[in-house]
Amino acid sequence: MSQSSPQQAAPATEPKVRVSGLHKFFDELHVLRGVDLTVPAGTVTVLVGPSGSGKSTLLRCINELESIDAGRVWIDGELIGMREAPGRDGKPVLHALSDKQRAAQRAKIGMVFQRFNLFPHMTAIQNVMEAPVHVKKTPKAQARGRAAELLERVGLAERMDHYPSQLSGGQQQRVAIARALAMDPELMLFDEPTSALDPELVGEVLAVMKDLARDGMTMVVVTHEMGFAREVGDQLLFMDGGVVVERGAPAEVLDRPTNERTRAFLSSVL
Ligand code: ADP
Ligand code: MG
Repeated sequence: MSQSSPQQAAPATEPKVRVSGLHKFFDELHVLRGVDLTVPAGTVTVLVGPSGSGKSTLLRCINELESIDAGRVWIDGELIGMREAPGRDGKPVLHALSDKQRAAQRAKIGMVFQRFNLFPHMTAIQNVMEAPVHVKKTPKAQARGRAAELLERVGLAERMDHYPSQLSGGQQQRVAIARALAMDPELMLFDEPTSALDPELVGEVLAVMKDLARDGMTMVVVTHEMGFAREVGDQLLFMDGGVVVERGAPAEVLDRPTNERTRAFLSSVL
């Protein structure tokens, strides 16, 4: 926010994320086929859908890990990418913002993946300090203090000096969440954060995510944990074949799915 000049500052009513008419191709594969999404600040959006439906690609388009082929993406009301024509015409994405402004927008977004991707040769606290020190140039002592706070927050005060190999999967994923939080994101994207965990370790990661949500973090979460969706989600979107086929309040969609594909999917995961 501090990077924006006054005339570009978004009004407080702007959603944190808005996606409109988003299309994405991988060569001939039409992966996203016109996705619309609005994520109000301070809310939790849950994305569900079968494997291959485009959930990860949607997250990756929001944080610009993938370029878009048509549609628009706004973060805090600032257009980070747009393309007019659907289809692959070889034209570059049009960016309304400078590279620097886009980098500032991207820096607002933290991401947590299914695989924790911690640096194996660094302890928990070193993993959490890494980006603040090397990307943000935060002084080491300050970064260490903040990393310790964050590890405490995710319940790992006792494990700060452990290496990833000395931590359970649930502990490693909590370190990964602390690592994302260390960059002070305004939006957190979670891509199946508990899918790789043994069942008994899922709860501790969901508890950290619930705590974050209660604290007002804006979150988009791809998950099959329907209890989490129901308890924490403000909206649930069901994706299939690159489109959102159903959306609404989580309890509504889960209890009374109107779409046949949603019904079939839910009966397979519940
Ligand atoms: P989901 O997360 O819902 O399982 P993805 O967004 O990962 O779905 O994938 C949607 C489709 O796009 C799948 O068919 C997948 O194989 C394909 N896909 C994803 N990433 C790539 C890529 N980098 N290159 C080619 N195809 C991809
Ligand atoms: Mg995925």
